[in-house]
Amino acid sequence: MTETEVLDIFRQHSALLEGHFVLSSGLHSDRYIQCALVLQYPEVAGRLCSELAARLRHLAPQAVVAPALGGVIVAHEVARTLGVRAMFTERQTNTMILRRGFELAPGEPVLVVEDVITTGGSTRETIAAVEQGGGRVVGVGSLVDRGGGTAPLPVPKTSLMTLNVQNYRPEDCPLCQAGIPTLKPGSRK
Ligand SMILES: [Zn+2]
Repeated sequence: MTETEVLDIFRQHSALLEGHFVLSSGLHSDRYIQCALVLQYPEVAGRLCSELAARLRHLAPQAVVAPALGGVIVAHEVARTLGVRAMFTERQTNTMILRRGFELAPGEPVLVVEDVITTGGSTRETIAAVEQGGGRVVGVGSLVDRGGGTAPLPVPKTSLMTLNVQNYRPEDCPLCQAGIPTLKPGSRK
C-alpha cells in the first residue's frame, strides 16, 4: 500500500479535511485529520492496520499497546494480524497507566501504536506506561504522522502516511490574515 493510496482512503472518508480549522488546542491549521471516520469501517480499519502490522512484524512483538481512546482500534487490528494480545493505556490523574488487569511479562516485547502521531507526547507516555508494567517497547507504529516525522522517540517508528501539517497561533495565522472563515473540526460546513 503506497502513501498515496492511504491518502486516498482518508480523503474518500472525509478524514483528511483541508480548510481553516480551530483545533482543540486552540491552534489553527489548514488541515484536519479525523481517523475515527476511517476506522468506523471495520474492513477499512483492518486493511490499514494489517499493512501497518506487516511493516512491524519483524520486531516480533508479543503484545500491542495503544493509548485510549484513539489508538484502541489500531492496537486491536494490528494485534489481530500479528496474532498477539491488544491492550490500552488510560490516563489516571494525569499519568498514563495500564489498568484493567492488563499484565506484561518481564521484558516482553511490545509494540506501541497510535492512530495519529504529532509531537509524540502520548506515544512517549504510553512507552513509559509499558516500561512501568515491565514490558520492553521494540517499536512504534501509527496510521498517520502529522508532524512530518519529527517526533523524538526512543525506538524505531513506522507510519503509513507522513504529513507536515502546519499549526499556527491565532495571532500568527496566515489563514486568519487572509480572511478565510474558520471551521470547527467535525463540522462539514
Ligand atoms: Zn486562523
